[in-house]
Amino acid sequence: MLTTRFAPSPTGYLHIGGLRTALYNYLWARKNSGRFLLRIEDTDLKRNSQEAAEAIEEAFRWVGLSHDDEIIYQSQRFDIYKKYIRQLLDEGKAYYCYMTKEELDALRKEQQARKERPRYDGRYRDFTGTPPEGVDPVVRIKAPQSGTITFEDGIKGTVSFRVEDVLDDFIIARADGTPTYNFVVAIDDALMGVNEIIRGDDHLSNTPKQIVVYQSLGFDIPKFYHVPMILNPSGKKLSKRDGAMDVMEYKRMGYLPEALLNFLVRLGWSHGDQEIFSFQEMLELFDPKEINKSASAYNAQKLLWLNAHYIKNASYERLIEELKAFDVNIEDHDKKEILVDALRDRAKTLVEFSEMARAILEAPQSYDEKAMKKFINEEAIEILRKYAAYLNISESPLHLPVDFEQVTKAFMEKEGLKMKQLAQPIRIAMVGSAVSPSVYDVLSIVGKEEAVRRIEALIHYFHTK
Ligand code: GLU
Repeated sequence: MLTTRFAPSPTGYLHIGGLRTALYNYLWARKNSGRFLLRIEDTDLKRNSQEAAEAIEEAFRWVGLSHDDEIIYQSQRFDIYKKYIRQLLDEGKAYYCYMTKEELDALRKEQQARKERPRYDGRYRDFTGTPPEGVDPVVRIKAPQSGTITFEDGIKGTVSFRVEDVLDDFIIARADGTPTYNFVVAIDDALMGVNEIIRGDDHLSNTPKQIVVYQSLGFDIPKFYHVPMILNPSGKKLSKRDGAMDVMEYKRMGYLPEALLNFLVRLGWSHGDQEIFSFQEMLELFDPKEINKSASAYNAQKLLWLNAHYIKNASYERLIEELKAFDVNIEDHDKKEILVDALRDRAKTLVEFSEMARAILEAPQSYDEKAMKKFINEEAIEILRKYAAYLNISESPLHLPVDFEQVTKAFMEKEGLKMKQLAQPIRIAMVGSAVSPSVYDVLSIVGKEEAVRRIEALIHYFHTK
């Protein structure tokens, strides 16, 4: 069964680059009715891996990814790794190396003087003598000493490393017995049945070492796909400031998870010139063999554009639910749908959406000074006063935007006014600034009585300021 995995090192949160890797592995597994596993690579770090795993699962829940089986923690598998170290020692495929730190430093200096790559010289590879006293040995694996390590990368094509350039008998267990990174990764992937690995190409250089481990232990070598990194718009490594942050930060900034996933799936993969991918389409269309060979650049505008698209097309229920996290609860508002429709085309994020919604739902606390200067004078105040009075005495029920449109048009006709004399003063009275959706939508949402109150409040403010 096709089995992929996501194997983050615990940092306490899920980074968006990590989410892209997880997404690719997830999509590929699900598309093939395979398994998608989660492993926390916490051998070296003394951090709280439980917390790290929870942070990852929280982010997964938010975006709608799920993994199969229990989470694997490397820190709980030292007995397994020990067993394989023992096995390799017994089979003569690994050996104890008693080289001291001083000897290693001296070797390194000599090699540097000769302008050679620092590399273990194999001096204990075939050692049969009496071990020196007082040295806790490391365990080294017998790696090939010449030739090439070649594999077919699903993205990069044939990748070939010259053994001399990248390998030596590398350490698989430190002097204190703890296993090293590339050793445990290969063992875990093999034992977990992982046969397709999609990961960042920063791991390409680890692959020959991992292949040595697979071969020594007689495990099948998985299929690798090394994905180019995400860069910032100037072609450098993505930093926090560029957007390389916790996935949950995107939630706080008002992004919809489907926008983020759509953004990430396209960041490194394409399908013709299609930009919008529903989750279902991603599942149907994603194929790691089509991942771009070159690095892709993070484009904040594109993410905003996608988010605006998904906000525009979200259901009422969905948006009303999402807005609760931004302190806007309109579930019981009788004009909630008018409000949502008035704002869904204007907001690029839920933060913007909620701010605009609050501006309509709550009476203005202050008035935009520039707008006041430009649109509010004695004449405008007089028009507003008459308009409020007209609304008050209006006999037809004022409910929908169209009702307010009719009554306002009748008022303008009666007074010989143009919309531009009225629209901005109404906006300022309703939301405190000259920017808002259609005044009729706003009036309908605010309701007649409250609209009149807000107009009176502006008149009062004008006279007392
Ligand atoms: N733990 C590694 C990381 O967080 C990933 C290892 C792998 O995918 O092989 O970058």
